[in-house]
Amino acid sequence: MSQTKTAVVSIANEKIVNGEQKGLSPEYQTERSECRSEDNKESRLKGKNEFDFWIPDKEVAKNYGLPVKYFIPEWDDRVDPDYNFIADEPVMGRDPYTHDLYAHEIYGMSNYDGVLISKVTIEESQTKREKVSSMSVHDFIRFSDGPIMGDCGAFSYIKQPEPPYQTVEILDYYEKMGFDYGVSIDHLIVGDIALDPDERKRRFNITRDNANEFYSLWNKGGYKFKPIGVAQGWDPQSFCESVACLVDMGYERIALGSLARAPSKVIIEILKEVREVIPDYLKVHLFGVARLDLLPAFRRLGMTSFDSASYLRSAWLNSNGKNYFTLDGSHYSAIRVPPTDGRTVKKMVEQGRGSMELFKILEGEALKALRRYDKGLAALDETLEKVLAYDRLIGGDRGRHAEMYRRTLEEQPWKSCGCKICEDVGIEVIIFRRNNRNRRRGFHNTYVFYKLFQEICK
Ligand SMILES: [Zn+2]
Repeated sequence: MSQTKTAVVSIANEKIVNGEQKGLSPEYQTERSECRSEDNKESRLKGKNEFDFWIPDKEVAKNYGLPVKYFIPEWDDRVDPDYNFIADEPVMGRDPYTHDLYAHEIYGMSNYDGVLISKVTIEESQTKREKVSSMSVHDFIRFSDGPIMGDCGAFSYIKQPEPPYQTVEILDYYEKMGFDYGVSIDHLIVGDIALDPDERKRRFNITRDNANEFYSLWNKGGYKFKPIGVAQGWDPQSFCESVACLVDMGYERIALGSLARAPSKVIIEILKEVREVIPDYLKVHLFGVARLDLLPAFRRLGMTSFDSASYLRSAWLNSNGKNYFTLDGSHYSAIRVPPTDGRTVKKMVEQGRGSMELFKILEGEALKALRRYDKGLAALDETLEKVLAYDRLIGGDRGRHAEMYRRTLEEQPWKSCGCKICEDVGIEVIIFRRNNRNRRRGFHNTYVFYKLFQEICK
């Protein structure tokens, strides 16, 4: 066990001891110790323990105990199964849609309980829209392991005064596309909007009225998909009012919006208020939030499903050494070896930072060294030096890279993962370089996330 991991667990245990020494009531202490094993799981996941957000039994929502689900948002996350990593070439002339595979096809099982598809992603191009319209969403993403939820992608029209859709049209869209769940048309209340008393109330009313119309038309229309009403608000009271309205309308499934970027403390305060109006049958989805360290608290406050692509996307969007996650809660930096035929390097050559020939030599040597290292044919220092030689030419914070890359290479996490992707592509999964490596690493991260999610939700 590394020093970092030891420290994390020690901090968690120390907090439990401190909590007991502070003279908490015996009932509270018992409840806390019952949750200790669950909490220790959390501590391994994010390197901290959220005791501040621990929910005592008397504050648990009435629906606690309903099954908990994880949905992955879908944005054409596919990779070429026959990608040639050595030549760095996809299969030429392939149709990416029919040839490339989704994560659930690569793994032969899904690392999620369901999929969330926003209307805005289907409408990215006319070709895609026509393709999806000619089949069901299940057939389009070749997914039959669970439900697919549809929503309108409220972030895409946040700046517009009104959502650009009508309820009747959206009901028909969900039905025609074969969604299992359809979300009512909402309007986000975030940032400055949440600070404007008139505007936030106006959006609150739009969301509520749309949900009312959505449920009423769904009820009369004989639709096969199940409706989900969205609650929007700006503080605990407004969210609570919004949820109470949806329950009164007759919804059995609701979702809370606008909280994806809210601090954990704010979300918990809102959920504490909301849980008071959650009946025992209600399924509640939390949009854009799937924080593993808060999962026990979210569940106890009545949340039954979540969606987030943060583990997937941190494979290529995170620059703080969190590109590759492992089941023991650790994370590693991917090793950047940008392609010389990519924009970054071309621009540097134009700026006179080096000749293309030099870039190509250093790129080739870095890749070769990494592959030799993976096979046990090269030493760590020698490999790291080749990687950093290219890195120095590219620029960036090399001191940090040296430290992060050394740790990644020393611990070789891909060798002990055991997932299909790490077994199939080896060290390529940890190389930060274009879609076929980066997205595979994202798929691996989703695999890890889902395993941890399931462990916490047991
Ligand atoms: Zn893996």
